[in-house]
Amino acid sequence: MKILVAVKRVIDYNVKIRVKADNSDVDLTNVKMAMNPFCEIAVEEAVRLKEKGIATEIVVVSVGPKEAQEQLRTALALGADRAIQIETDEKVDSLGVAKLLAKLVEEEQPGLVVLGKQSIDSDNNQTGQMLGALTGMPQGTFASEVVVDGEKVNVTREIDGGLQTVALTLPAIVTTDLRLNEPRYASLPNIMKAKRKPLDVKTPTDLGVDVASKVKTLKVEPPAERSAGIKVGSVDELVEKLKNEAKVI
Ligand code: AMP
Repeated sequence: MKILVAVKRVIDYNVKIRVKADNSDVDLTNVKMAMNPFCEIAVEEAVRLKEKGIATEIVVVSVGPKEAQEQLRTALALGADRAIQIETDEKVDSLGVAKLLAKLVEEEQPGLVVLGKQSIDSDNNQTGQMLGALTGMPQGTFASEVVVDGEKVNVTREIDGGLQTVALTLPAIVTTDLRLNEPRYASLPNIMKAKRKPLDVKTPTDLGVDVASKVKTLKVEPPAERSAGIKVGSVDELVEKLKNEAKVI
């Protein structure tokens, strides 16, 4: 079975976000970029399925600028076999990405498509679902366990207050939640080997997809600055301040 994994280049989750002075967007100047953490989990799950002998090939795909090849190389170092970059300098929204992925699904005919549940930059949580709608494939979102069983995949989903297990007929879509697995680190020899693995570059035009967005970001604002805290000398002083200053008790 072939697995297609979608990986997105985003701001590294350790970076403190800065907003541009004109509030038009997040400032990406000299900011460390990385693979979206939920996509790392998606790659790891695909690699584990290959190690179990269930997957035969892992193809990773990223939609973005030339620099997104860095994240594709990381995925190749983690165990993917081949990469496809869909190159564009435009900001492509989830529907655009889903349309491009739908075309690749048509071309590549994967048994499983694995995506992150959410990009940590846009917080959209919709690409996997949109891909499901466009392709008619069944989907198991927010997966915390994935078990391939013949023609089916059983996906345990993290839902409010519990877990739900669904059986999907392959080919299917899975989106990963945090507890699905703990991604490995790429070893130096594997990073070197990844440089020689195939990486194809296509454009949205090659795939016949118009990715022009119908969504315009009007304004981006940072969270309100929190004022500095103070140290109190005793429990009595804390209670006094909570009562008379903060007026919360
Ligand atoms: P979102 O719907 O934007 O929150 O993203 C959910 C998942 O869709 C991500 O974790 C990726 O697996 C995939 N995805 C979103 N944008 C891209 C992109 N530009 N390139 C590749 N995959 C993407």
